[in-house]
Formats: sequence, structure tokens, C-alpha cells
Amino acid sequence: MKIAFIGLGNMGGGMAANLVKAGHAVNAFDLSEDARATAAGHGCTVFADAQEAVKGVEAVVTMLPNGAIVRGVLENDVFGHAPQGAIVLDCSTIDVATTRDLSEAASAKGYLMVDAPVSGGIAAANGGTLTFMVGGTAEAFARAEPILAAMGKAVIHAGDAGAGEAAKLCNNLILAATMIATCEGFRLAEKLGLDPQVFYDISSKATGQSWSMTSYCPVPGVGPQSPSDNDYKGGFASALMLKDLKLAMEAAETSGASTPLGQHAKELYEDFAAEHGALDFSAIIKSL
Ligand code: NAD
Repeated sequence: MKIAFIGLGNMGGGMAANLVKAGHAVNAFDLSEDARATAAGHGCTVFADAQEAVKGVEAVVTMLPNGAIVRGVLENDVFGHAPQGAIVLDCSTIDVATTRDLSEAASAKGYLMVDAPVSGGIAAANGGTLTFMVGGTAEAFARAEPILAAMGKAVIHAGDAGAGEAAKLCNNLILAATMIATCEGFRLAEKLGLDPQVFYDISSKATGQSWSMTSYCPVPGVGPQSPSDNDYKGGFASALMLKDLKLAMEAAETSGASTPLGQHAKELYEDFAAEHGALDFSAIIKSL
């Protein structure tokens, strides 16, 4: 298939490369020249203009920082520029209301659309092992599924438009709280005189185990390679985690859900991201 890919950052770069590996022709666009150069190295055809990139494609994938940017790109550069009947797959994490709104606008302009946010981090984006949680009609899901399968290990239909984003916000609320708890456990273990590797060997096989510990350990030199081993550079920026927590707390308020730990995690990331927003979210261990 001919696919346009917009947003070639920490996540989108590897995802676009995996579409090329699966045999798709990928038209790639990002505002960053460096990101475009890397995508060209991975076999994408790069464009300096999003409207040009979406001409003649069957699908458009977006992997962008937030809802306002996704709205701007879809309304200005995709709708009316990509061929009618093309499917739009927004893999960014954004709020449920914006994604539902954009899905309606897409359909009014003659496109299919799914929200397909991801879980897994950059290692999974590069390795093609992301989990996609997808919102949209059965028809849109059927069209999106084979495209997403080339970038992931699991593609799950969560429900109608917005359901993918709803699942993602709930997942990241759990992720933020377990990351902070994992950091606290390692700090306390250290104060009590435990070697971090020994504590890891125990807790990773005990009930304290979580993805935050065994796939993304916040302590350098312990567990598999993760952003902590690279001075917390790259990975999933604390500012993006804060964005997700704010969206989750807004959703909790409008739906009447009780989320006291999520609220506390949001406050801790607010403090941390004010100074260290570009560092990976596991760097919150530095604040403890
Ligand atoms: P990133 O900041 O590394 O990448 C975003 C890219 O979008 C950048 O390269 C930027 O130049 C580009 N961009 C911004 N505005 C643009 C525009 N108008 N047109 C074209 N390109 C534009 O962010 P990321 O870590 O890749 O995250 C992308 C999305 O994925 C976010 O919504 C994030 O919440 C979500 N996410 C990230 C992770 C992670 O581990 N990093 C995991 C799951 C989900």
C-alpha cells in the first residue's frame, strides 16, 4: 500500500520504518529536518510538505504530540488533500472529545478514521511489537488492522470512535502510578542497605513486579536496556506523561470516576516536568 506517515519522532520514526520493512511505500513528513533525514535512511520517501505527502495515498498515519497538533494537521493538510476513501489512523495519545470530533469530520469529508493509540514505548516502536487499542467502526477497523499489524504484536478493537483513546488514558494512569511506586521501592531499598540488582532480582519475581520494573527499570544498570541507561534521554518524555495524566483526570472528572492515585501522580509529574519535561518519565526517580 501507499501510506503517508506524519510525525517521525521517538515513536513515529521506528513505526514508519516498520511499514517500509513490511513492503509498504511510505511517504514521510515531519517538521524536523533531522527526523526526515532518518526516515529517508529507513527507506521512506520524504516530503517537506504534509499536503504533498498525502497525495495519492490509501492511508495516512499520524503520530503527533497532542490533540491540537493532530487537529491542525488533519484539518489543514489531510482532509481535502488525501484521496477520498483513504483511511486515517491517528496513533497519537489525545483526548477522547477531540478524536470523536475529528472522526466525525473525517467521515463528513469522505474518509474512514480510527484512533489507534499505542502502548509499548520506543523499543516496541522500533521492534514492531506495539499494542494498538483501536476506536472506530467495524469497517474502519477491518481496513486499519493489517496496517497496524505491521507495527505491532497486538491490535485490539476497543469500540467506537474514541474508545482507543479512552483505553490509552486508563492504561497510562496505571503506568504513571506503577512507575512512581517502583521508583519509591528502589529508593527505600537503597536507604535500607539493599543492592539495587539484588532488590530487582527479588521483586521482579515477586508481587512488586510490573512493566515499569522489568521492561523499563528506572534504575540505571538494572534490568533490560531502558532510558535510565542513557541518562533518561529519549523514551517517553515526562511532559507527555503529564499530558496523558491531565487528560485522564479531565476524563475522570467528567465521568465521575474516583482516581486519587492518578490525581497524586499528576501533581508529582507537574512538579517534575516543570524543570525536566524533556527527560523520560522514569527520571521521576531523581525527585525522590
Ligand atoms: P516526539 O516529540 O518524539 O515526536 C513527535 C514528532 O512530531 C516530532 O518529531 C515533531 O517534530 C513532530 N511534529 C510536531 N508537530 C508537527 C506537525 N505539525 N507536523 C509534522 N510533524 C510534527 O513524541 P513521541 O514520543 O514520538 O510521541 C508521539 C505520540 O505518541 C504522543 O502523543 C505520545 O503521547 C504518544 N506515545 C509516546 C510513547 C513513548 O514512549 N514515547 C509511548 C506511547 C505513546
